Amino acid sequence: MYPEKLEMLIAGEWCQGSDGKTENLLNPATEEVLGQVPHASSADLDRAINASLDGFKVWSKLTALERQVVMEKAARLMEERIDTIARTMTMEMGKPLAEAKIEMDVVINALRWYAEEGKRAYGRLIPARFTGVRQMVTKEPVGPCCAFVAWNFPGNNAIRKIAGALGAGCSLVIKPSEETPGTAIAMARCFQDAGLPAGVLNIVFGVPDDVSRHVLGSWIPRKLSFTGSVPVGIHLQKLAAETLKRCTMELGGHAPFIVYDDADLEQAIEQAVAFKYRNAGQVCISPTRFFVQQDSYNKFVDGFKKRASALNVGNGLDDGVDMGPLIADRRLDVMDSFVNDARDAGAKIEVGGQRLTNQGYFYAPTVITDVPDTAKIMKDEPFGPLAPITAFRTHDEVLERANSLPFGLASYVFTRDNERAASIGSELETGMVGVNHVRVSTPETPFGGINESGYGSEGGIEGLDAYLRTKFVTEQIT
Ligand code: NAD
Repeated sequence: MYPEKLEMLIAGEWCQGSDGKTENLLNPATEEVLGQVPHASSADLDRAINASLDGFKVWSKLTALERQVVMEKAARLMEERIDTIARTMTMEMGKPLAEAKIEMDVVINALRWYAEEGKRAYGRLIPARFTGVRQMVTKEPVGPCCAFVAWNFPGNNAIRKIAGALGAGCSLVIKPSEETPGTAIAMARCFQDAGLPAGVLNIVFGVPDDVSRHVLGSWIPRKLSFTGSVPVGIHLQKLAAETLKRCTMELGGHAPFIVYDDADLEQAIEQAVAFKYRNAGQVCISPTRFFVQQDSYNKFVDGFKKRASALNVGNGLDDGVDMGPLIADRRLDVMDSFVNDARDAGAKIEVGGQRLTNQGYFYAPTVITDVPDTAKIMKDEPFGPLAPITAFRTHDEVLERANSLPFGLASYVFTRDNERAASIGSELETGMVGVNHVRVSTPETPFGGINESGYGSEGGIEGLDAYLRTKFVTEQIT
């Protein structure tokens, strides 16, 4: 049984859409219908936007300590309910239950971190050039905010917006993905039960473009935060410009994973495979272009193939499953088109390369070697369980190839050369660089891309600052 009741949260009340419109929610592992996702009407969206203004007036007046108390209580409720929320996530999104629990753990940590950091929204005093004048810079919450988030991390994508906004003293209208609504609903119930005032957090669903046009057309939300694809991000930024909203854009990536001959190869292979197939590769910072130096290439490919072939693909609720299905049927077609194009370009499909069953959206963990840089998979973000591996000779060559795309989210490098390890972080054109490990996403560190991967950070002090505005007050005191 799917554990969550599908409802929207508007002005502190759980509700269905006022005109009764819904869409089916599917389990990607079984294609079974789990429930009906309510769609907000225009009137519902207006109610949510207005409620966020009412909520802002209450929430922004509380002290950071008072806000922390509510957020901490919500974190404790999430801990108590973690098993049920993780089950909801697995059923609607497909990832293995163990991964869903880890994600909820990350969610709880991020919530606690933002709740605590809200107390450190420091301003400063600037010595004045006029006698008897005090000059103060203060940080204030930007106002009611809006956010739209993708389905790949139903908990984490949502909490980064919710906790960032709430920690800074903002209110929020958020549209989680209609493909993974239950996780955000379950999290919102924790906030409600923790005593969050009405209107501070509003959750809506609908036809994505209709919702975003309506919400972004209002002057009430003062900020937009989006997690999703580059084309949708560009589209939303244009809409947000009409009402001069500031934006945070967490968009796609195409992460190079560079392995030098001097690397600890076993460590590189182990981390490469584990990270590549986590969440079936549907991760914006997933390694997606593997560059291995000539002398280590064959050994790396052999080790990678061995581990990838041993992965157990299945329903995420079953024991021992390493990788679940893709989110939807449409993604299987996208995977096929990447594989066919690579094959036509002269690459070898070493492992996988096809869908796995007639029921559920399962795609085989796939390893593709000798992939030319001209193949589609080396240019477009695959967002799935495909690992293209290619060889390189020199440092300058691999740097040029790694930096050749307009994306700039994450990159990874494995080397034992200390000089190279120290310098490569500044040579790679990405917002995050992992050297000899891949853990680039934690609550206290900034997460975000550059170039076409977007701008603005979530996490770290930058993540809170994104929801704050700067005010200057100058006062003649003597
Ligand atoms: P998509 O571009 O159609 O949708 C991505 C997400 O944006 C979905 O959750 C969708 O509901 C939402 N969306 C689409 N149009 C919207 C609109 N006008 N207003 C508000 N939200 C809107 O692609 P898809 O098939 O769902 O996912 C695959 C692609 O999405 C991948 O190529 C990948 O680049 C990207 N993606 C990126 C991230 C990320 O974290 N950066 C997360 C998920 C998906």
